[in-house]
Amino acid sequence: MRKRIGVIGGGIAGATAGYHLLKADSDLEIILVEAEDQLGYHTTGRSAALLLENDGTESTRSIVRASVDFLLNPPEGLTENVFVTPRDVMHIATAEQSDSVDRLLEENKSGRIPTKEISVVEAKKKFPPLRDEVIERVVVDEGTGDIDVHCLHQAYLNGFKKNGGEINTATRVDSAVKNGDSWLLETKMGEIPVDIVINASGAWGDQVASRAGIEPVGLEPRRRTAFTVNRKEPDIQDWDMIADINLRFYCKPDGRQLLCSLAEENPSEPCDAKHDETDVALAIERLNEATTLDIRSVQTAWTGLRTFVPDRSMVIGADPADDSFFWCVGQGGTGIMTSPGVGRLLADLVTLGKPSEHFEGTGLNYEEVSVERLRKK
Ligand SMILES: Cc1cc2nc3c(=O)[nH]c(=O)nc-3n(C[C@H](O)[C@H](O)[C@H](O)COP(=O)(O)OP(=O)(O)OC[C@H]3O[C@@H](n4cnc5c(N)ncnc54)[C@H](O)[C@@H]3O)c2cc1C
Repeated sequence: MRKRIGVIGGGIAGATAGYHLLKADSDLEIILVEAEDQLGYHTTGRSAALLLENDGTESTRSIVRASVDFLLNPPEGLTENVFVTPRDVMHIATAEQSDSVDRLLEENKSGRIPTKEISVVEAKKKFPPLRDEVIERVVVDEGTGDIDVHCLHQAYLNGFKKNGGEINTATRVDSAVKNGDSWLLETKMGEIPVDIVINASGAWGDQVASRAGIEPVGLEPRRRTAFTVNRKEPDIQDWDMIADINLRFYCKPDGRQLLCSLAEENPSEPCDAKHDETDVALAIERLNEATTLDIRSVQTAWTGLRTFVPDRSMVIGADPADDSFFWCVGQGGTGIMTSPGVGRLLADLVTLGKPSEHFEGTGLNYEEVSVERLRKK
C-alpha cells in the first residue's frame, strides 16, 4: 500500500515539505491542502526575503547552513532563475548603541562568515544616505542576499506537482479525526483519508493541532509590518541593506523602491493581519533620523505574522503522543531562508526517523527543534 500524506498549509513550509518528501520517496502519495484560494497568501507572500546566516538561535543557524547550497545552487531542473541575489547587510549604531555592536561582533565571531566592523566612511559608499553625524559604528554581514520568494515557492510547488503531488486550494482542514491507524481530514469539500499528517499551517499551527486532538506547542504569532517607498536614485539596486543594531527598523533596496520595516514583534491571534499606520509612521521617523532619505510617502504597506515558540527554535518532527502527526512550524522570521533545510529535515524524519547525513557538519542538535523539548517543560 502506498503511504498517503496530508500536508496542511500551502506557504513555504508546506511547499518545501511536499517537495522534499516526494524527493525522498517518490512512492508516497501526497496531498497538500490550503485554506486560501491562493498559495502563499499569508506570511510567505509578505516576507522581506533576506538570506542571513548570522541570525536566530543556534539550531536556526544550523538549518540555514543546511539550506545555503540549495539556495545558491538549486538542483538541476528545479528552476531556470536564480533564487538569491547577493546584498550585504550593514548593522548601524549610534554612539549610545556601541555596546550592542560589541555584543553582535562577539555573538557572530564563530559564524561561517563572521560579522566585521567597517568605518562609517566605507558604509556611506554602500548606503549613501547614511547620516554620518548620527551613525557612529557600522558592522557588516557578508554572504547575505535577497531571496526571490515567489520563484522559490513556485519551484517547490512545481517540483512537487511534477513528482505526482496533488494540491487542493480553498480547502480548509476544519478538523482531523483519528480513524484506526490513519486520519480523516475533514473539509467542506469532503473527507480526505491520510496515514500521516504534516502540520505546516504557520500561525494556525496550534489551532490545527487542537482540532486533531493533539496538544498545542505554544505558538506565538507576532506582527511585522513592511512598506515600500519609491525612489529616484539611479544606483539604488547596488546599495546594501541597513538595519538598526537593535533592530528598531531596517530598509533595503527592492527594485526601484526601498522596502522598509519597523521590525516590530507585537503578539497577534492567527489572522489575515492588516497594517497599522502608526507602525509605518514610527519606522519612517526612525529612518529619517538615521538617514537623509527624507521619506514622506509610502507606496504600499502590509503586515505578516512571524510565528515563534518561546525558545525561538523551530518545531520540526513527530508529536511524542502520535508519531503519525508531524509538526513543521515556528519558523519565525527565517522560514524562507531555512526552507530547503526544513523540508529536508522533515522528509528525513518521516522517511528515516532521524536527520540524515545532509545535516552532518551543520552543527544541528535535533533535540533543539524537536517537539519533545517543549513537552518536557
Ligand atoms: C515582514 C516580514 C519579513 C520577513 N522577512 C523574512 C526574511 O527576510 N527571511 C526569511 O527567511 N523569512 C522572513 N520572514 C518570515 C517568513 O516569511 C516565514 O517564516 C514563512 O513565510 C512562514 O511560512 P509558513 O509556510 O510557515 O506560513 P504561511 O505562509 O503563513 O503558510 C501557512 C498556510 O497555512 C494555511 N492554513 C492555515 N490553517 C489551515 C487549515 N486549517 N487548513 C488548510 N490550510 C491552512 C494558511 O492559509 C497559510 O497559507 C518574514 C516575515 C514577515 C512577516
